[in-house]
Amino acid sequence: MIENNFQNSLEYANEMDGIDPLKNYRQEFYIPLQKNGEPYVYLCGNSLGLQPKITESYILQELKDWGELGVEGHLHAKNPWLPYHEFLTEKMARVVGAKPIEVVVMNTLSVNLHLMMASFYRPDKKRFKIVMESDAFPSDRYAIESQIKYHGNDIKDGLLELKPRDGEELIRIEDIELLIEKEGENIALILLGGVNYYTGQVFDMKHIAKLGHDKDCVVGFDLAHGAGNLELNLHDDNIDFAVWCTYKYLNSGPGSVGGCFIHERHANNFDLPRFAGWWGHNKETRFGMRDVFDPIPGAEGWQLSNPPILSLAAIKASLDMFDKVGMKKLNEKSRLLTGYLEYLLDNIKTDRLRIITPRDISQRGCQISIQVLNADKSLFDNITEAGVIADWREPDVIRVAPVPIYNSFADVYRFVEILKKCLGDL
Ligand SMILES: *Cc1c(COP(=O)(O)O)cnc(C)c1O
Repeated sequence: MIENNFQNSLEYANEMDGIDPLKNYRQEFYIPLQKNGEPYVYLCGNSLGLQPKITESYILQELKDWGELGVEGHLHAKNPWLPYHEFLTEKMARVVGAKPIEVVVMNTLSVNLHLMMASFYRPDKKRFKIVMESDAFPSDRYAIESQIKYHGNDIKDGLLELKPRDGEELIRIEDIELLIEKEGENIALILLGGVNYYTGQVFDMKHIAKLGHDKDCVVGFDLAHGAGNLELNLHDDNIDFAVWCTYKYLNSGPGSVGGCFIHERHANNFDLPRFAGWWGHNKETRFGMRDVFDPIPGAEGWQLSNPPILSLAAIKASLDMFDKVGMKKLNEKSRLLTGYLEYLLDNIKTDRLRIITPRDISQRGCQISIQVLNADKSLFDNITEAGVIADWREPDVIRVAPVPIYNSFADVYRFVEILKKCLGDL
C-alpha cells in the first residue's frame, strides 16, 4: 500500500490531476472515443499503447523523403535510413538503464528471443535446462520449448517451471532461490518475464541474476511488460540479455519493432555463436558484400536485416517523448496513480473482487490484475459497454494498467465507479 491521504471522490481525483507535473502529456495522445463521442477510459496500455499525436509527422517525414529521394534517402533523407536505428539507441538505452553499446532496436520480440537463445542457450550433456515461469506468455513458452527441442532434448527434461504454491498466484523468491540452489548445475538458462504479464508481479532481476551467475547460468529477461513501465537498470543488474516490444508501454504502434539488450561484457565476444545478417556486419565494409562476416561490437552486431524505417520513425517519436519526461518522473506518477487505483478498489464493498498483483510497490509496475470470483466474463463485457477499455484473461482476471504518461486520476476514478455499478448489476 502506498502511504497517502487518498480520497474517494471525483473532486479529489481532479485535484490530483491539477497538480500532476505530467498532466500536459495526456493531450499529446489520441484517446479512443466511444460511439457517443466521449473518450474511453483507456487502461490497456499494457497491451497496446496509445498513439502520440507527433507520430504521424515522424512517419510522414520518411514517406516524403522516400517519395522525393528514392534510394538516395539511405544517405540523404533528413534522418538518413542507413544509420536510422542509431538515432534510437541512446534514448532506448536510457529507458532500460543500459549503455548504448548494449542496446539495439531490431526485429520483434519473439524473433529476438530466438536470436538471444541461439547465442546464449548453449546446452551440453550436463547443463541443458531452461527455467521459466509456469504461466509465462504463450509466445515465450513456444520459443523456449522449441529451442529445447531444436537442441535434441525432451521438454520434460529440459524445462524447469517455476510455479506459484498451491492456492497462491505469485511466485515466491525463496522458491526461485531453492530451485537454482538445487538444479543450478543443470541449468543453462534462466529466462523470466521481468513483469509477469498475467499477475503484474515484478521480479528482483538483480537478485535473480546474482543467484544464476553464482551457478554459472545465463540469465535473460523478457521485458515486454517492463520497458517503459519500470525504472530498469539492466546494466547494473548484470542481466545477460533482455528483449522487449515497443507497442505496449512504449507507444510505438501495433507490431512495431522490438528492443534488445546484451550486456557489455558480451560485446566483444565474437566466439559466441549467432545467427548473422548483413546489418550486423562492420559498417565500413558492409557494402563490400564479399567479406567474411565481421560483427559490429555490442548489440548492433546481432542485427540481421535493414530495418523497417516507418516503424522506427514511430519509435523515434515515442522515445523523443520518453526522453523528455524520463523514467524517474513517470515512475513517481505511476506509483501514485496505481496506488490510487488500489485504494479505490480496496474501498469497494464486495467479496467478488481480489487483487492478485503484489501489494508491495517494489514488486509491481502500473498494472493491477483483478480476479473476479464466481463470475464469468459478463462483468468485463459490461464495463467495456460502459466505456472502459481494459483486458480480460481467462479464466477470471481483468487487467488494468493506468499508464502515467497519458492516464489521469480521473480515469482511475471513473473506471472504479463503472466497475462498482456493473458489480451491482451482476
Ligand atoms: C506482448 C508479449 C509478447 C509478444 O511477442 P511479439 O513477438 O511482439 O508478438 C511476447 N512475450 C510477452 C511476455 C509479451 O507480453
